[in-house]
Amino acid sequence: MQFRDLGKQYLHLEDDINERIQNVCKSANFIMGKEVAELEEQLADYVGVTHCIACANGTDAIMLALKAWGVGAKDAVFVPDFTFFSSGECPANEGAICVFVDVDINTFNMDPVKLEEAIQKIELEGRYNAKAVIAVDLFGQPANYNTIRKICEKYNLLLLEDGAQGFGGAIGNKKACSFGDISTTSFFPAKPLGCFGDGGAVFTDNEEWAKLIRSYAVHGKAENDKYNNIRLGCNSRLDTIQAAILQVKLKAFSEYELERVNQIAQLYTSKILKKGLGEKISVPVVEKGYTSSWAQYTIKLHDESKRDQVQACLKEMGIPTMVYYKKPMHLQGAFEGTESASADCEVTNDLCKCVLSLPIHPYMEESEVDEVVQALELVL
Ligand SMILES: *Cc1c(COP(=O)(O)O)cnc(C)c1O
Repeated sequence: MQFRDLGKQYLHLEDDINERIQNVCKSANFIMGKEVAELEEQLADYVGVTHCIACANGTDAIMLALKAWGVGAKDAVFVPDFTFFSSGECPANEGAICVFVDVDINTFNMDPVKLEEAIQKIELEGRYNAKAVIAVDLFGQPANYNTIRKICEKYNLLLLEDGAQGFGGAIGNKKACSFGDISTTSFFPAKPLGCFGDGGAVFTDNEEWAKLIRSYAVHGKAENDKYNNIRLGCNSRLDTIQAAILQVKLKAFSEYELERVNQIAQLYTSKILKKGLGEKISVPVVEKGYTSSWAQYTIKLHDESKRDQVQACLKEMGIPTMVYYKKPMHLQGAFEGTESASADCEVTNDLCKCVLSLPIHPYMEESEVDEVVQALELVL
């Protein structure tokens, strides 16, 4: 069994993908071919925003957003303590201080109460300028944007949605990657919408920022002259081949993959609870009105001391699992000795000890779900 079976997905889409790749090869427009602009329009349409700028990966997407806002030294950026490293790496790389904020024990997403406390603390101390919030749609479920948005307005902060794992999620009818002043996603192969290498995108309704991001992504070029470099940028484009592949994958994603992965998640939850395993593990919680794109299906073991042993036993039985994440952001070595390391995030500390992500993807069979749940029953 595969944790995320990308080979199986390719078999389903093989003819279309091969044809699109060949078209790019024949056109030989490998950089900024027409497929890139087409994809940007399709993505903006799907998400429901005005501007989409494709770029080289999800980390660059965050970096480009922060550059457009001029985030830098003396700025404080609020980041969940329970996330992939990029969410904090990017603001720190721009010279800002990361203030790590604890998460909600059920949704794994930034806790708005803890966020407001952290903002008030920074404002009271007065050493840093509270500048932006990076909220993460962890494991596919959008963060609590209704509340986080209000807090950002109250304290005049910019809101960045790190939707690297969230593409396809929604709150009501509003899609993920539309909740931030700027939102970002990743097309790393294992993300909900992945390409065949690295890729990413930035979304915004703000034309000024969209233009700046297009400039920063191509060496700080002027709008209509690529050899007139008016600011220091970087090289962060999405390859034409990746854009062509993503067009095929986006179609499958919106036509059936997202629905199918939600069915798999429901099967997991109902089968786990039916077997009475709810006494030993907690199944993931999707808040009312929220849709997850199930980047991960993550359970919590009530007896955290058994986690690593359970994972090892499942591996013996041919079932791959992952621990996302083993370490809170504030304990990552890169932040050692910095003020960011002093964050006190109890929930995140606990989660890191008890979470376990099970195999999930849109091409999983019900029999495979049964296999995982039966194995869990044996080892718990
Ligand atoms: C994967 C991920 C990123 C980075 O995306 P890359 O395309 O790998 O650079 C950023 N944030 C989160 C939450 C992620 O999961």
